[in-house]
Amino acid sequence: MIPISIDIDRYKYDIHSLVRAFYPREEVCVRTEEEWAEQETAPFLKICLGTDAMPELSIRLRGSRGEMLETGTWSPEGVSASEHSTNGSDDSVHTQKNVLKRLLYEMLVRETGHALPWGSLTGIRPTRIPMQMLEDGRTEEEIHTYLRELFYVSEEKRSLSIEIAHRERQVLETLGDFRNGYSLYIGIPFCPTTCLYCSFPSYAIGAWKNRVEDYLHCLDEELKLVATLGGGRSLQTIYVGGGTPTTLTAEQLSRLLTMVRERLDTGACRELTVEAGRPDSLDRDKLVAMKRAGVTRISVNPQTMNEETLQRIGRRHTVRQTIDAYRLAREEGFDNINMDLILGLPGEGEAEVRHTMEEVAALEPDDLTVHALAVKRGSRLYEQMISGKDTGELPADPPDPDRLMTIAAEGAREMGLSPYYLYRQKNMTGNLENTGYAAQGREGLYNILIMEELQDIIAIGAGTVSKRVFGDGRIERCDSVKEVAQYMDRLPEMMERKRRLWEAEKNGI
Ligand code: SF4
Repeated sequence: MIPISIDIDRYKYDIHSLVRAFYPREEVCVRTEEEWAEQETAPFLKICLGTDAMPELSIRLRGSRGEMLETGTWSPEGVSASEHSTNGSDDSVHTQKNVLKRLLYEMLVRETGHALPWGSLTGIRPTRIPMQMLEDGRTEEEIHTYLRELFYVSEEKRSLSIEIAHRERQVLETLGDFRNGYSLYIGIPFCPTTCLYCSFPSYAIGAWKNRVEDYLHCLDEELKLVATLGGGRSLQTIYVGGGTPTTLTAEQLSRLLTMVRERLDTGACRELTVEAGRPDSLDRDKLVAMKRAGVTRISVNPQTMNEETLQRIGRRHTVRQTIDAYRLAREEGFDNINMDLILGLPGEGEAEVRHTMEEVAALEPDDLTVHALAVKRGSRLYEQMISGKDTGELPADPPDPDRLMTIAAEGAREMGLSPYYLYRQKNMTGNLENTGYAAQGREGLYNILIMEELQDIIAIGAGTVSKRVFGDGRIERCDSVKEVAQYMDRLPEMMERKRRLWEAEKNGI
C-alpha cells in the first residue's frame, strides 16, 4: 500500500489517480498526516498546499524506509501566462491543481523511470481539451503545445485526441440542435455468465429469468416518466446496454422496443443501438425482432478471438459463436455492427492481439472499439490480483501495453476505420485509453454525446446513471441502485431522483 498525506481534501481524487497510474498494482491511500501518525505510518508522499498567506505548495517524496528522496515546491510567481488560461477556466484552483499534478508527475517519472502516455492528465475525457480549444479557434499547433507543456502528453496521444476532436465536431454538426435534444439509456443488467474482469451491473440470467417480466414492467413505468421529462425535446439517440440486453427473449426484446416507441416520440431518433454483447446470447429470432423494431446498430463483442483466453476470462462462448452471430446479423440486414476488443487480457501478448485483429478484419465490422483492460474494484480479476491469489495463469500486465495498442490501432486503420471517440477509465492497462474506430458515417452517435457531455442522458434501469447538462454547462447526475431486487422494490424512489433533477432545471435552481 502506498500511503500519501495531503493537508486538504480538495485534490485527493486527482492525486490518488495520478499515483495509481504509476503504480497500477498497488493500493494507494490518501489521508491527512494526523491520520497516518495515528497509525504510525510515514507517508510515501507528503503534499502541502499553499494558503492565501503562504501560497507555495510543496511535495515530499520518501523512500520505503522513510528517507527523503526528493522535495518540490511551487510558488505563484513562477507560473507562466499559458498556465492561467487552461481549458477556458483560469480560476486559481484549476491552475493550482494542474501545477500540483505536473510537479508530482515529474517527481514520479524520476522515481519510477517511466513516463505515462497521457502525462499528468487523469480525467476520463482527454478529448475535451482539444474540442474546447478548437471551438475557441485555436490552431492544432497551439493545442499540441498546450498538451505537451502543461500535461506532458505524448505526441502520439496529442495527435490522436486532436484527430478525434475534429471528427466529433463534424459528426455533431449533423445532429443539428443537439444541446436541446436528449438521449435515452436503457440498462438490462443480465448476462449469460459473469466475466472475470466485469464490474458492471450484471446478474446471471439463469437465476433471474422469472423476474425479467417484473423488470420490464419497471422499465415501462420509467418510460412514462421519461416522456414527461423529455417532453417537447427531440429524442436523438437510444442505447440499450447492460449487462447483455440480448439475454432477453426475442419476444421480450420486441416488447421492450415497442414500449419505447409507444411511450416516447421517436420520430427524430437518429440511432437505436442494442448491445448484443455476448455472442452466445444471440439467435436469428432476436435479430429479426430487433431489426423489425428499428434497431440501427448492434454490438457483437468478441473481446478476443483466442479460444483459451475466452475460457480463462469466463466468457463461456467460443470464437466460432462470435463469427456465426456476426454473420447471422449481416444476413438479417444489420449494416452497422460494432465489435469490442480488450487489450491486456490475462495471458495475451503481441501474437494473440495480432491473431485477433486478423480474425476481426476478415469479418469487416463497421465499428471497432478497442479497450485497454481496466482492472476495477468489484471484479473477480481485481480480487485475484490484490489478494495475491494470482496463480501465474493471470500475469499482472502485458510486457508492452503500448505496443498492443499500436498493433490494434494499425489494424483498425487497415480495416478502413478511423478513430472517432475516446475515453479513459481508472486502473487501465498501461494507463492507456479506450478508442472507438468507425467507417465514415458509421460512428456511434450516443458514444460521442455521452463522452463529450453535451446533452441530457436519461437513463432507466438498475445501476444506470442519468446526466443533466444545464444551460451554463454545469452537469449533475443521479443514479439508480445497482442491485436488481432493490431497484424494483425502490422504483418510486429511483424515479423521484430523476424527477427532482429535471424539475430543478425547470424551477431554475
Ligand atoms: S458481458 Fe459485459 S456486463 Fe456481462 S459479465 Fe461480461 S463484462 Fe460484465
